[in-house]
Amino acid sequence: MEWAASSELEAKPAAAPERAAVGSAREQAFDDLTRLAATLLGAPIALLALVDEGSAWLAASVGLDVVDASPYLSFCTSVIQRDEPLERSDLAADPRFAAHPLVTAGPRLRALAAVPLPGLGGPPLGALCVLDVVPRRFTEDQRRGLLALARQVAARLELDRRERELAEQRVDLARARAEAVTSARAKDVFLANMGHELRTPLNAILGCAELLREEATAAGLGQLLPDIQTVDRSGRHLVAVIEDILDLARLEAGVPQLRREPVAVAPLAEEMEAAVRPQLRNRPLRWRLALEPGLGDITTDATKLRQILLNLLSNAIKFTARGEIELAVRVAHEGDREFIAFRVADTGIGIAADKLSLLFRDFSQVHDARHGYGGTGLGLAISRRFARLLGGDILVDSELGRGSRFTLLLPRGPQGMS
Ligand code: ADP
Repeated sequence: MEWAASSELEAKPAAAPERAAVGSAREQAFDDLTRLAATLLGAPIALLALVDEGSAWLAASVGLDVVDASPYLSFCTSVIQRDEPLERSDLAADPRFAAHPLVTAGPRLRALAAVPLPGLGGPPLGALCVLDVVPRRFTEDQRRGLLALARQVAARLELDRRERELAEQRVDLARARAEAVTSARAKDVFLANMGHELRTPLNAILGCAELLREEATAAGLGQLLPDIQTVDRSGRHLVAVIEDILDLARLEAGVPQLRREPVAVAPLAEEMEAAVRPQLRNRPLRWRLALEPGLGDITTDATKLRQILLNLLSNAIKFTARGEIELAVRVAHEGDREFIAFRVADTGIGIAADKLSLLFRDFSQVHDARHGYGGTGLGLAISRRFARLLGGDILVDSELGRGSRFTLLLPRGPQGMS
């Protein structure tokens, strides 16, 4: 029989657990729309049924005089299953409804107008039913009005669904963020420990090499010195590689702490000369320091600035067989912002135009490793990241076989630093 609840869509008169979670604003809206449906159609009874996991349950009603609403719900389930409006002017005259217990007894229902709640491309979300106890026809305006109310209910359900999704996404995001913070912290601890674990034995090796060098010299065992020097050089190289990798890992684990302070530019540039002097020794390389007068102070992280300059200068020296290495410092303007431009120029092997874009990538070495220049391919990648954190950048121009110019631009003031 049509009005019986089917097995696929069973009527669920008792409050579904989900209903407890339904906000009162939503309940109020459903009550209002159901009441409006009854008023619009001038009928004493109206009910709104919603589908939830294959069951229809009563979300709102007007004029029901019973505790058990399941016989009423069966009208709604018929409409939901058909997914099209259903209208009867006299249920008692319809063979499919004539035997319905609410037609034969109780309120003795007669007229029915019911519409499904449109699901977005899917099955209906429920049904809105209006019932009268006298046989009657509904007007075209009333039919259209009932359809419009059903659309309103469906729109409200869709809004609720999106809000629920958003709330779930917010929970997921918060969880992901908490996990990221925890793992970043674990990474920090790991890096600090690794740095210590690697540096300690390496420093012991370097200390022993120094001791051996002194002892070998004192004992007149000069033939051992080249081997001791190899131990020393390799150890220092390993320290540099570890520092680079730890720097990169720290940068990726999160933004490193920057310590801003005013630094006098000219003395810092002069300091760089002293720092690279050992690398220039016994090399056919001229050193030039060109400082514009009145450079003044720069407010920045001095340690990071020194590290970047040292990296650019070491590269210039490493990739230049003969000629000149120059550090030129001047004031530059971009709009109303003032920068200090540190330019490191060399007359070395240069870089092919099509390779310039690879320079700042992690672990990228532009020249053939077989030439024995050494390095990790991390120095420039790290330097550019630091420069950008300090609100500036590193620019490059170069000509193969003629030399390169790397320019570090940093804002004079602390604005723009991350
Ligand atoms: P590393 O020097 O440790 O290999 P860098 O990131 O500092 O790593 O440099 C990446 C590559 O860029 C170098 O291997 C080299 O091929 C090229 N390069 C950097 N500076 C210069 C320079 N002044 N002249 C020529 N090539 C350079």
